[in-house]
Amino acid sequence: MGVKLGVLALQGNVSEHIRGFERALSDIGDENGSVVPVRRPGDLSGLFGLAIPGGESTTISRLIQKNGLFEPLVNFKGGIFATCAGMVLMATRVDDARVKTLGLLDMTVLRNAFGRQKESFEAEIPIKCLDEPYHAYFIRAPVATETGNGVEVLARIDAGIVAVRKGPHMALSFHPELGNDFRLHRVFLKGLGIGE
Ligand code: GLN
Repeated sequence: MGVKLGVLALQGNVSEHIRGFERALSDIGDENGSVVPVRRPGDLSGLFGLAIPGGESTTISRLIQKNGLFEPLVNFKGGIFATCAGMVLMATRVDDARVKTLGLLDMTVLRNAFGRQKESFEAEIPIKCLDEPYHAYFIRAPVATETGNGVEVLARIDAGIVAVRKGPHMALSFHPELGNDFRLHRVFLKGLGIGE
């Protein structure tokens, strides 16, 4: 097959996402697939999909603009697999004016939605597209409070919406790149018409 994927490599969990995509490609038997870091607009060419990793959304947003990536990301034709800070960047509305969001998923997102005591936690959560619950790592996670314009809610916990999908894009407020469960990566690839 030889599917080419990218990981936005400005700040955050870049190597974990590269490993996650590599594992998912090998799980579906694509031995010729490749995963590249994306730092400038030209790096996006030929990519089927792109991960926007967790990290600090204020920092990633600043670096997106500095590297001339804002418009190229808004117009990117592939799918985006956005996690944690990445989910913040995909939203149309966020509770922090320092983040210039890409606006690719119609939703309102609250950064750091969990108070200090629950800054980081793990939970077994049911997700609409998976048969068995998913062990999710939440690290200073955001949640979505409302969605619109075709955004499908895949998972919700008491605090709010933690997984969504629209067309080829997925956004998760937890970290599927940590641990060894790559089912959500495979769901993402399936949404791009890759694997089964
Ligand atoms: N709270 C961070 C932010 O809003 C996200 C944390 C993470 O990506 N682990 O940018």
